Amino acid sequence: MAIRIGVPKETLEGERRVALVPGILKQFIDRLGAELMLEKSAGEASGFDDDAYPGVMLLDTADELYAQADIVLKVQPPSIDEVNKLKEGSLLIGFLAPHTGDERIHALNARKITSLAMELVPRISRAQSIDALSSQGNIAGYKAVLMAANLSGRLFPMLTTAAGTIRPAKVVVIGAGVAGLQAIATARRLGAIVEAYDVRSATKEQCESLGAKFIDTGVKAEGEGGYARELTDEEKAQQASVLADHIAQADAVISTAAIPGRPAPKIIDTATVERMKRGAVIVDLAAETGGNCELTRAGETVDHNGVLIHGPRNVPSTVAVHASEMYARNLYNLLSLIVQDGELTLDFDDQVIADSCLTHAGETKHEPTRQRLQGGTPS
Ligand code: NAD
Repeated sequence: MAIRIGVPKETLEGERRVALVPGILKQFIDRLGAELMLEKSAGEASGFDDDAYPGVMLLDTADELYAQADIVLKVQPPSIDEVNKLKEGSLLIGFLAPHTGDERIHALNARKITSLAMELVPRISRAQSIDALSSQGNIAGYKAVLMAANLSGRLFPMLTTAAGTIRPAKVVVIGAGVAGLQAIATARRLGAIVEAYDVRSATKEQCESLGAKFIDTGVKAEGEGGYARELTDEEKAQQASVLADHIAQADAVISTAAIPGRPAPKIIDTATVERMKRGAVIVDLAAETGGNCELTRAGETVDHNGVLIHGPRNVPSTVAVHASEMYARNLYNLLSLIVQDGELTLDFDDQVIADSCLTHAGETKHEPTRQRLQGGTPS
């Protein structure tokens, strides 16, 4: 019997994405040889009706789907209740929040679920087409700029009109990873003057190639795996004092700075916000992990002396059509390493599989998570 891949409707409040889109069905069916199951109306919030999934078995409830699926594809981490419904020994792929959610990880092990966490996919060239942090980060960076433009009382481009000349907006982007670089490109496309900053010196050239001026704070903090490390207190102070002068001049700040598995670095303090112009906007993409700005409240827009600090949650979900399409393609590319001719083969000698694996056969495979669960070094 062909392997059964099931996609339930996402249950987290506000989540509009879906892990399977009509445009990729042919590859799943023809190339993977899989049998597909979808919970009814799972694609609706992303704009995909059930009719758009020909050849897919539609199931009335998630319970039926979990009971039958050999592989479950999700966007958000499952609840404990959802984990307990998974078929014992089945494969789960999705964002699984490996750095938190200990109870969920214990539940996955109790049911001997093999789980692959999209957050753990290695950032190597071969895995770029599987990298969902990048596909969703790109979307978040783009949308953050539109959010800033929407909240701002100013136009972003320079406009020469009969009613006078409008000067272009000044945008500062903090953190030039995937989201930050897309924010720079989007702000430039809207006509803003853009300055950008990151602790990784390799980003200077990338920012400049997108048309941003790089802010040199003199602080460099390359960490492991191409990520940044946490800064020392002296480095933080040095960075803050240089950045504050640029932030104070900005019409909009897009902050994206993150360190995997850690709270977001605090980069913009209240005193700096108080130096900003009335009507200036901060869109803090790090809101969900505590925010890059001291005043950020996740899911809220704070007005501090006329400066708006917007802390959106789950930005990719607001662009659900393309976010789902890109995410589903990431999942397909990962599955094509695992499913051949309708059969499941997990090759733990493949770095992509080994690194992405959170749990397997009742054991936590991701070493930092394993240590945290045993009360050792936190991850
Ligand atoms: P991320 O979301 O973890 O962090 C966003 C950015 O914040 C990073 O650029 C980081 O350097 C920066 N940052 C952290 N602390 C900061 C601070 N105190 N001040 C200013 N900036 C700070 O990063 P990401 O977007 O997921 O990308 C991380 C890395 O992975 C990058 O080097 C990226 O180029 C690399 N990457 C590689 C591949 C690949 O080769 N397959 C794919 C995607 C990303």
